[in-house]
Amino acid sequence: MIRKVKGTRDILPPESRLWGAVEAKARRVFEGFGYDEIRLPVMEPTELFVRTVGEGTDIVSKEMYTFADRKGRSLTLRPEGTAGVARAFIENGLGQRPQPMRLSYMGPMFRYEKMQRGRYRQFSQIGIELLGASTPQADVEVLLALHTFLKALEFDDLVIVLNNLGDPEDRDRFIKVLKDELMPNREKLCGDCRRRWTENPLRILDCKVETCRELVAHTTPVADVVSDEARTHVDAVAQGLEALEIPVRVAPRLVRGLDYYLRTVFEVISPALGEDTVICGGGRYDRLISDLGGRAVPGIGFAIGEDRLIDVLPDSFKHRVLDVPVVAVLPLGDEAAGSALGLTVQLIEGGLRAPAEVTGRSLKASLKWANKIGAAVALILGESEIEKNQVLVKDLREGTQEAVARDAVVERVRRLVGEGDS
Ligand code: ATP
Ligand code: MG
Repeated sequence: MIRKVKGTRDILPPESRLWGAVEAKARRVFEGFGYDEIRLPVMEPTELFVRTVGEGTDIVSKEMYTFADRKGRSLTLRPEGTAGVARAFIENGLGQRPQPMRLSYMGPMFRYEKMQRGRYRQFSQIGIELLGASTPQADVEVLLALHTFLKALEFDDLVIVLNNLGDPEDRDRFIKVLKDELMPNREKLCGDCRRRWTENPLRILDCKVETCRELVAHTTPVADVVSDEARTHVDAVAQGLEALEIPVRVAPRLVRGLDYYLRTVFEVISPALGEDTVICGGGRYDRLISDLGGRAVPGIGFAIGEDRLIDVLPDSFKHRVLDVPVVAVLPLGDEAAGSALGLTVQLIEGGLRAPAEVTGRSLKASLKWANKIGAAVALILGESEIEKNQVLVKDLREGTQEAVARDAVVERVRRLVGEGDS
């Protein structure tokens, strides 16, 4: 037997229905805010991620699926979405369109990681990017869109955490403070952090090793070291969110796993998954597009880990999606088969889910199948029903049945399954 690649997943029905429903909700909410989908390649030149995500990051240093194509070009399966959006923005001259640009994306990302709950090698992200606006109001909108989406999924326990990373000019100053404070305990840092010390010291704040965490807990938070402009900006974002009654928690040591963020950074935490398995990460990246050779176009966005989101989806939303009534259409005999499929179409047009029996089973076996697939109603079409232009409507939950005129069936069934009023 051939098995799937380690770290990839088969999403089977009915869980796949949850994925579809979450993605439909994302489209609806984000389109409402004016975000249109951008569909981008899954592979990009390796250099794109090295230059944007950053050489010293975990993603670039050890997680990328990088390979040479048949002509020896170095390609990488995208580990995240923002770099591709920035590349496409420049390459397609999207700066010529009315600004700001609001873009959304969803799809698979690839990172070579150790498998565990909520951590896969192929996973899906849903994200939005707001390009061409640098105001705190833009940040508030992006966070409001995130909050609105999570609310539409009926979440009530997720926490948005927010921090101020300052501007790139502040970073060197902060890193000096951080290193000075950690210097006496440098030898106690884990091996990874000792490497980060020279390559990417900010990442030390992100380390999940307990001893590193304790050492870091006593250092000055980055938000204390930032410039007045950066402070004013993020304070205004926090106030804007408060005015909209969007609860956020300030997380003074939050840094993100990519180099391009500045000023506003945030994550969404689920109590069920804990702080090491965040649902969403995002932030402002005003230098990303100019670093890639474009004009200076500010941006802010986030990426939600769809696998993790679905793992903790509220039961209320899941039931709404999974508990839709099913109507089984059961023809008896060859003659009824064609007529049954015609009826199926009528039911579908009436907004119902109505799979037909097509294996030629007996009535008894057909009813057994209808029960197994969880049908609320079975519609039986035999020779005599066809003759009388009727359908036998069997309520499988109540155990009752009645003959209904063919052209009244859809309405009758809709009422039976509780779809009558819509
Ligand atoms: P983590 O700290 O968990 O490694 P990250 O900072 O690397 O996350 P981002 O690059 O910010 O993650 O990606 C945004 C979101 O994508 C994350 O918040 C998470 O929900 C999801 N994500 C990232 N890596 C994975 C993965 N390997 N498997 C599943 N989801 C992932
Ligand atoms: Mg990671």
